[in-house]
Amino acid sequence: MAEDIILGIDLGTTFSAMAYVNRHGKPVIIPNSEGQSTTPSVLHFYGPGACVVGEEAVKAVVLDPDNVVRFVKRHMGEPGYALEYYGHTYSAQELSALILKKLKEDAEAALGVTIKDAVITVPAYFNSPQRGATAEAGALAGLNILSIINEPTAAAIAYGVERLGGRRKMLVFDLGGGTFDVTVMEIQGSSLRTLATEGNAELGGKDWDDRLLAHVAEAFQRQFGMDPLDDPQVHQELYERVLSAKIALSVKPRVVVPVNYAGNRTVVTVTREEFESISKDLVDQCAETCAIVLERAALRWSDLDDILLAGGSTRMPMIHALVRRLSGREPTSGINPDECVAHGASLAGVFRHRPNHPALARRHRPAPEAAGAPETGLPQGVSIVDVATHPLGMIALDALNQEQVVTLIPMGVPLPYDKRRRFAYPYDRLTAIRVEVTEGTGERREDVTVIGEVILDNLPPRPRGTPIDVVYRYTVNNILEVDVIDVETRAARKARISLKGGLSGAEMDAAIQRIAVAKVH
Ligand code: ADP
Ligand code: MG
Repeated sequence: MAEDIILGIDLGTTFSAMAYVNRHGKPVIIPNSEGQSTTPSVLHFYGPGACVVGEEAVKAVVLDPDNVVRFVKRHMGEPGYALEYYGHTYSAQELSALILKKLKEDAEAALGVTIKDAVITVPAYFNSPQRGATAEAGALAGLNILSIINEPTAAAIAYGVERLGGRRKMLVFDLGGGTFDVTVMEIQGSSLRTLATEGNAELGGKDWDDRLLAHVAEAFQRQFGMDPLDDPQVHQELYERVLSAKIALSVKPRVVVPVNYAGNRTVVTVTREEFESISKDLVDQCAETCAIVLERAALRWSDLDDILLAGGSTRMPMIHALVRRLSGREPTSGINPDECVAHGASLAGVFRHRPNHPALARRHRPAPEAAGAPETGLPQGVSIVDVATHPLGMIALDALNQEQVVTLIPMGVPLPYDKRRRFAYPYDRLTAIRVEVTEGTGERREDVTVIGEVILDNLPPRPRGTPIDVVYRYTVNNILEVDVIDVETRAARKARISLKGGLSGAEMDAAIQRIAVAKVH
């Protein structure tokens, strides 16, 4: 039984959640040790090697800010990123691993089993190093990462869209705590495919918190001429009250926030209308991001069949109103938006990696019109087609020996995707070849990012034109495998680009001359 469970993990920027698929095929959120369905992705270091994750760490945000880590996800795959606490240095992967470790341990305690396998979700726009760093964090937490899947794909699976049949286009609107991601996907029969995606990494629930906090603090200041945010302790308490007030405003028309500072007390009343008017420009920014994605997918709102909401901040009525106004329809409902990504991750894990799951064995084919979350039994034959979200290529030399980026994997192709391309020695008597792997759009080195390199050395010296093959394999897990092969001697060198954000498996030899492979034509 133990090895049967796949932990579906939504490793969020501000909150993380986890789920598993029970024997009836129903995804179930696993509460953390505090009994909550989501866990703040926050760490507090309180001594050498001593760290607490979650709600407890949030309490230290204002009081001990220097030892609190938030928004680690924004630094995943960032070269050289490191933070030091009590004499120990942590990479983004190591910090994320501490969050994952808490989730794993809490899940094991809640379910009474040992958990090994997991599926972790990442934003659709994450590039290979960011995905690799996420997989590495999982491994560091003692998990066997079966897949890294896109958050909107997971949300779509959780909403049960595979039951809809036919050909449908949907928009996943994911407004979380610190980021906003919009993805347009297409379902054809039972396969799911990402058409376009765009994120605003500077927009999320935190901005609404800050607006409300400033509004309440200003009201106090107008009355007493002093700013309650000047005192860290008061700031912390007020922030917590404002956060609860924001959440209450999602269901109530007005809230009261007590403020108590320097012997002065007052109660600030905030109506939902006021809250909406102070955050109107934030809502407008959401609309802008949607417009960008739709334009990229060459679609209009009227072309969409479903609007799916993900992320805790979509619980705010102003977001529902925005979606209704833009799309002219009601968003699909039925699952908690802050739980749907974890649900989908656990379902995707079973579809892909547990063909003998009891729920799959006695599944039935649901009626095409039966939308909504799967209740019992898993649908048959779901296939998830993710697409490459960035073009991948390499730097080669053109006929005039000028550097040029050659794209091997275009943006938007369905994964997995393989490409083999033949190149040639640009000069006589070379004994080593260096392939620089690039990510991004453009023809020149300055336009793209070099995400790794593969060196094939100890080659016999041969003339210009000697053939070299380069193979790129972009796997469904969004990991890029690169092979550089000397056609004549069959000598080859491989690298898996994502796992360390640079080259892995390829040898670095500083003595090798920096060269590029010439294109044949
Ligand atoms: P992440 O961005 O890390 O994926 P979530 O999707 O869980 O996180 O979203 C977290 C955000 O959702 C936080 O800003 C939180 O305050 C907000 N949120 C959660 N519930 C509600 C609610 N009922 N009303 C308004 N905002 C909410
Ligand atoms: Mg999220």
